[in-house]
Amino acid sequence: MLRIAPGRPGREVPRWETEVIMTTSPATGPAGASPSRRPRVVVIGSGFGGLFAAKALRRAPVDVTVIGKTGHHLFQPLLYQVATGILSEGEIAPATREVLRHQENARVVLGEVTDIDLAGRTVTSSILGRTLVHPYDELIVAAGAGQSYFGNDHFAEFAPGMKSIDDALELRGRIFGAFELAELSTDPAERDRLLTFVVVGAGPTGVEMAGQIAELAHRTLRRDFRSIDPTQARVVLLDAAPQVLPPFGEKLGERARRHMNEMGIEVQLGAMVTDVDADGLTVKDAGGELRRISAATKVWAAGVQASPLGRLLADRSGAEVDRAGRISVLPDLTLPGHPEVHLVGDMVASGLPGVAQVAIQGGRYAADAVARRVQGRPPRGPFRYRDKGNMATISRFSAVADIKGAKFEGFLAWVLWLAVHLVYIVGFKSRVTTVLHWAVSFLGRGRSQRVATQQQVYGRLALERLGPGFAASKTGGPKDPAAAATDVTERESA
Ligand SMILES: Cc1cc2nc3c(=O)[nH]c(=O)nc-3n(C[C@H](O)[C@H](O)[C@H](O)COP(=O)(O)OP(=O)(O)OC[C@H]3O[C@@H](n4cnc5c(N)ncnc54)[C@H](O)[C@@H]3O)c2cc1C
Repeated sequence: MLRIAPGRPGREVPRWETEVIMTTSPATGPAGASPSRRPRVVVIGSGFGGLFAAKALRRAPVDVTVIGKTGHHLFQPLLYQVATGILSEGEIAPATREVLRHQENARVVLGEVTDIDLAGRTVTSSILGRTLVHPYDELIVAAGAGQSYFGNDHFAEFAPGMKSIDDALELRGRIFGAFELAELSTDPAERDRLLTFVVVGAGPTGVEMAGQIAELAHRTLRRDFRSIDPTQARVVLLDAAPQVLPPFGEKLGERARRHMNEMGIEVQLGAMVTDVDADGLTVKDAGGELRRISAATKVWAAGVQASPLGRLLADRSGAEVDRAGRISVLPDLTLPGHPEVHLVGDMVASGLPGVAQVAIQGGRYAADAVARRVQGRPPRGPFRYRDKGNMATISRFSAVADIKGAKFEGFLAWVLWLAVHLVYIVGFKSRVTTVLHWAVSFLGRGRSQRVATQQQVYGRLALERLGPGFAASKTGGPKDPAAAATDVTERESA
């Protein structure tokens, strides 16, 4: 029988692609129950929660398997710099396998987790039709969150989100491509449409993205074109909320808004997007009036939806999920009734913000809990998050920061932002090249990463035409129909 298979429509699926492979013998009991082998810890996700959990287990007497949908660890906070040509994708996404190469108790498996059997203690992952079943004694789930379009997934075709390397490279192609097409156009209305960039969502991601598009237009591209004046580009940041950067409080939010106005960014608040198409957006203002913004490039930075694995685990354990699909856990980050299943990061409804530090600290806490359990040591007590503060950049030399209640903005905040991000970029090589690229862009006017290929711009749409299984990239995971219409929460702090 011929079936559509990834790679080429109509390709016959080889047997190995559909076989189920048990990677090791099935789990036999609680952690450490079998004296003949070391406890197996499966970690789902190679983001902040998963990677830091795996690394924290390096000295524990366990065998760790990290299963990731991608082969890299993604530093999401700098995705906007990939989209706007400052950094290359490799600098913010080192191979997970390389990061863990010296950790002998860890192996890395590429694949998307499609099932978790809580009774049988197995995780099923799949890639290109090849299915693997991984038995576990302890499970750490850190599958993060994808983009949410408030139930309007069709907006994604015209307004890519900012969740993956694919998203950032597609946006890079769209942003630089809009300037190129404007240069070719002789119709003033079309030029205006091509030179209008709209960012939806005035949280930290939206502010950073709008700021960088403005700097690109006003500084980097200023002298590069002959028919158009890139400094005339219109950058619009809009949000249904009445404030910019809500997690930073009113005062800092207002300062950020003023700074963006000075940069020439139009900040439109109380403006709800009701439709998005190829030519622009329809916006409903606070008074209820509808208006159009004609814009070729739209960026969606408005909300998140937790991994569908949260809902799957909730259905099987009786745990609750909130409207953004985040799962409730016990104070020790375990699934109710399953002390061997630990959940961390963006997919957890803990009342904590969806930021990297929450995932990192949660991952380390879960790893410690696992190590204690397998060594028969008592648990440490509930998870406590240590808030190290929030930061967001607005432009070069300017950021806002809220460190333990001390709120400040400007150059000092920007230097702090630079230092903190450098510390958390994984790998020495990436740190060195990142500093060089920052020097090029922030001290000079250049952007070293302006390449965009046709595949990057059109690839996602082409893949989606191959069928529902390929529609994953826009929401960062397989669709969760039950969650599709839920509300969204923007990352609450930077
Ligand atoms: C554009 C952007 C900017 C941000 N800026 C900041 C910032 O400045 N400061 C800050 O603190 N936070 C920031 N954040 C938030 C921060 O990145 C997240 O809070 C953090 O990444 C959460 O970590 P996590 O491990 O829960 O999820 P993630 O880091 O998203 O990792 C999830 C992992 O799970 C994998 N995965 C998902 N589903 C499956 C599956 N079914 N099978 C296998 N693997 C799967 C993914 O591939 C990924 O490796 C930003 C986020 C974005 C999107």
